[in-house]
Amino acid sequence: MTEPGTFVIRGGYVITMESEPGDIPDGDVLVTSGRIVAVGRGLDAPGVAGIDARGMIVLPGFVETHWHMWNTLLRSMSGDRPGAGYFHVSTTLGRVFTPDDLYQGTRLACAEAVYSGITSAHDWCHNIRMVSTQALNLAVCTDPAHMLVTAAQPANVDTVIVDGRVLKRNGALTALDPLQVGRDARDALAGVRARAGWP
Ligand SMILES: [Zn+2]
Repeated sequence: MTEPGTFVIRGGYVITMESEPGDIPDGDVLVTSGRIVAVGRGLDAPGVAGIDARGMIVLPGFVETHWHMWNTLLRSMSGDRPGAGYFHVSTTLGRVFTPDDLYQGTRLACAEAVYSGITSAHDWCHNIRMVSTQALNLAVCTDPAHMLVTAAQPANVDTVIVDGRVLKRNGALTALDPLQVGRDARDALAGVRARAGWP
């Protein structure tokens, strides 16, 4: 049994994002204790568990630079109708968010991020009057299981690894139950709408 966070990704088209060594067709990535320790072809790693990446691109996780993660709970509620503009919706409903609602919105965003291959995000958490004591919104991001995870079509992202933890494999989330995340977010939003008297 290999130690957690130790594995070798084999045979992918490795995009290193570095001028040297550049792209490595049919390349391997050796991860030890959550850290990349070697990149190249035919890496020697006896006894280390392998992840087959043939036919896939292997690249660093995407970086989302601007995301209001908390209001992911309000996804699709804004529109062109009078009274449904983004600022009206987010300020009216944001006013009655509890810290747990912030948590649920952010967790939903994190699940979406991991699903899409985003492993780093800048969270514009501007509903900050709700974060003064427990900072639940931020607590999500200290847990590697929730730690991001946004840019490609999610269906194209086979595997997402953060700090050596496999958060998505074979196209499915491994550390989060997406249906449960969705149910919890839906329940939180129902509470927000009720408290705001939102139709
Ligand atoms: Zn913004």
